[in-house]
Amino acid sequence: MTETDFRALDARFYMPAFGRDRMLVKGEGSRVWDDQGNEFIDCVAGIAVCSTGHCHPHVVEALCRQARTLIHISNLFYVPGQAELAKRLVEITGLHKAFFSNSGAEANEGAIKLARLATGRDRFVAFEHGFHGRTMASLAVTHKPAIREPFGPLEPGCDFVEYGDIEALKGAVTSRTAGVFVEAIQGEAGIIFPPEGFLRGVRDICDDSGALMIADEVQTGMGRTGRWLAIQHSGVDPDIVSLAKGIASGFPMGAIVAREGLEFSRSQHGSTFAGGPLACAVARATIEVIEEVLPSVAAKGERFREALARFEPRVCGLMIGITAGERCDGVAAACAAEGVLVNCAADGNIRIVPPLVITDGEIDSVCDVLSRALAR
Ligand code: PLP
Repeated sequence: MTETDFRALDARFYMPAFGRDRMLVKGEGSRVWDDQGNEFIDCVAGIAVCSTGHCHPHVVEALCRQARTLIHISNLFYVPGQAELAKRLVEITGLHKAFFSNSGAEANEGAIKLARLATGRDRFVAFEHGFHGRTMASLAVTHKPAIREPFGPLEPGCDFVEYGDIEALKGAVTSRTAGVFVEAIQGEAGIIFPPEGFLRGVRDICDDSGALMIADEVQTGMGRTGRWLAIQHSGVDPDIVSLAKGIASGFPMGAIVAREGLEFSRSQHGSTFAGGPLACAVARATIEVIEEVLPSVAAKGERFREALARFEPRVCGLMIGITAGERCDGVAAACAAEGVLVNCAADGNIRIVPPLVITDGEIDSVCDVLSRALAR
């Protein structure tokens, strides 16, 4: 198919909800190629999804093996590999039981249902600039007015307070609050770190009020920051964790993992596809690869930090933000022209979330290109 064909077909037949200009057709490790044969080091990685790199052989092998054996059955039956994956997620998070979904938004839907069920309360508190998904309930706890407001009225009711402001949180959490949604690092907001002690403060307020602390680790989880969960850097234990993105190397999957005493009973929640044999096989293989590479993630982040020091990067493992302001799109375009893909999160912040398998040589190339683009 020629370039004009796919652009024209897309314009005619696909709803224009995304802004995009390039088609990527092949990937291997941290590299991707477009339809013109141009090669890039991919620091977008499906927006923090392709943590094992593109088409990791161990992941591909698990996918193909499972596809040849059994693609789908139903949660009416025990699913091969599902309980083993749940056990792994419980070990990784230090929580008690898992439940699967097909995306991050849907994981947060599950967390919302579970929090309402467990507390008998109806409202939520979340943070300004936080992002939790685009389904109706996950959108209700997502802050950005431009993506919320066209779809109201939204349920559940949610109050938003400034990220990092513990006093404001105290004032917002009431006896009606079922849960507080928090990202340990705000991803879509532009890789924004909370002040020291903030997550502990959220935990304390939840404990005092009986609200559940829901850590949205959809973007920060699965090894992205050098630990399995970003919240683990703070030593704080949430009540519920939501996961997706990096969990299955790009195969659609999400999950919630909850502490003891928080669970759905029969018929209270479910999904046709969630936790199917293919997703579970790919996620288990993904976790095996991440387990190997995880000890190197912090050092790789430090390599980025040192090379980009003069641009004051915000670094936690391989989750890196740099403020570029109005120049952000121009910097991203300049990087792409030199073979490096990065994208702009909110408020002019360059987001760098490469595969966790990125090599030191690739990091050096990325930093060279980025430094030139930022210095311009
Ligand atoms: N939560 C966070 C923190 C996210 O970054 C995202 C997506 O960017 C979501 C939830 C929604 O995930 P999904 O797009 O898989 O529905």
